[in-house]
Amino acid sequence: MAEHDVQVHGAGWAGLAIARGLADAGVNVRLVDPAGALGGASGRALGVALPTHPEHPHRLEAGIGTAAAAALVAFIRAGFDRLPGLARVGVDWRASPQEEGELDLALAAAARVGLGATRTAGGYHLHDGGAVDLVALHAALRGPSPLPVHATAASAEVDVYTTGAVPLDPFLADKITPVRWTSVRFAGPPLAVPVVSQHGTVLWCGGLEAAGARWATPHMEVGETDPVPDPRVTAMLERLTRQAFPDAGALLSSQAGIVGESCDGLPIVGPIPGRPRAVVCTGFGVAGLAYALPCARAVVDGILGRPTEGVPTPLRVTRFS
Ligand SMILES: Cc1cc2nc3c(=O)[nH]c(=O)nc-3n(C[C@H](O)[C@H](O)[C@H](O)COP(=O)(O)OP(=O)(O)OC[C@H]3O[C@@H](n4cnc5c(N)ncnc54)[C@H](O)[C@@H]3O)c2cc1C
Repeated sequence: MAEHDVQVHGAGWAGLAIARGLADAGVNVRLVDPAGALGGASGRALGVALPTHPEHPHRLEAGIGTAAAAALVAFIRAGFDRLPGLARVGVDWRASPQEEGELDLALAAAARVGLGATRTAGGYHLHDGGAVDLVALHAALRGPSPLPVHATAASAEVDVYTTGAVPLDPFLADKITPVRWTSVRFAGPPLAVPVVSQHGTVLWCGGLEAAGARWATPHMEVGETDPVPDPRVTAMLERLTRQAFPDAGALLSSQAGIVGESCDGLPIVGPIPGRPRAVVCTGFGVAGLAYALPCARAVVDGILGRPTEGVPTPLRVTRFS
């Protein structure tokens, strides 16, 4: 007889949300994370709530088709209705010089997939999403009586893997890539609206904090599992920030976190094919605020047998079977 009904591995945004949802429904749930709550990428994020996948809309559409891209945008938007601490100020996309020729394509695709967007001088403004107060989000995920976070696993009827960049279950071994993201904080005026640039791989938010990865392409980051800022990335972020925001003041601090990117760039959610009691919910990349909480909710509904549409087809684990 297993000691627990459900064991959730990983106490980032996804794991905390799943454990909270199950515990609130009366399930005997064990939460496991050797690093404690929010010890992974979720404790280092900036708070940019992207209303879409971190790619230009026409690239997303080309990758998965118009109907699937529209379903993804609708899924993210519905999740924002429940996202604690969200200031709905939208997100600015600032085109790099090599992206300027793509802006008409991006805006046309945005209209087709139901993503509100308006042309700006340097790119476009995405109407949905915005900036999240991470203190409020974390408080909501922990709840009034936080669940204990255990350092070691026990036995359970169902195991849920939300271990971000760590492919704990062998099924994930060839599907998850660790990518180091670095953030750099500057003295300077706070931003009213978060900004995304450089193929979705540099974010700016809040009291002028920038985050980005060494390479624009996640597969080139393989092996970057050490959450220590690389001086080359810090220098790149400083250069790009001073270009984009000439008023940026002194560089105050730098930190890094390891994000789990999936092999096709989309989250992986659902029971592992052939193993219904092993459930995965991971691969959120740099769009954790868009994906992690609505995916966690779908997992909770699925385990509890509540009526649910689940996650959109491109996010389902069954795409690998
Ligand atoms: C610098 C930076 C800036 C970012 N900015 C943003 C942003 O502005 N907006 C946005 O949407 N996203 C952002 N992200 C991405 C976001 O942080 C992630 O998408 C999100 O945190 C993923 O949540 P998660 O729960 O899947 O993973 P994590 O938060 O990484 O949680 C996984 C957990 O699993 C634990 N774990 C590891 N091994 C085991 C084990 N053996 N057993 C149990 N537990 C284990 C880890 O300790 C960790 O706590 C940023 C990331 C970084 C690093």
